[in-house]
Amino acid sequence: MNMDQEPQQPPKPPAPPVANANIAPGVNQPMPADLITVCATCGSAVPKYYTFCPNCGKSLNAKPLSTSTFTMIWMYGVSVFLPPLGLWPGIKYFKSEDPKAQRIGMIAILLTIASTLITVWLSYALVQNYVNQLNGILQGTGITPQQATGGLF
Ligand SMILES: [Zn+2]
Repeated sequence: MNMDQEPQQPPKPPAPPVANANIAPGVNQPMPADLITVCATCGSAVPKYYTFCPNCGKSLNAKPLSTSTFTMIWMYGVSVFLPPLGLWPGIKYFKSEDPKAQRIGMIAILLTIASTLITVWLSYALVQNYVNQLNGILQGTGITPQQATGGLF
């Protein structure tokens, strides 16, 4: 029996579909550049949705920081009204790679500093006002404000 073989090789079966999370980076899987980030620790290309680098296991910290208007308003609001709580997100944003996030972080830090200064100044003014009132009340009683407040002022 002399059966001629098929001249053409049967086409390779397509690779079975793999869940995205299991795709090894850089293995015949060209990915759009905007889905890839580079691990800051070992430099390997890693899909952006990874939380940890599959190569070296370090946290990728590549979750893009939101720079939406809502986030900006929220951060600036916290910076202004709840100092110094705005400092931590501000520093986090300031240290990020994204220049837009950096600017938001810088503004949040500046707002926190300004708000802190204003708070300190207002407190000082309030204390001064209190001392002045106390002076008025105590006038003629012979008691000094220092005695009345235990030397606090
Ligand atoms: Zn790595």
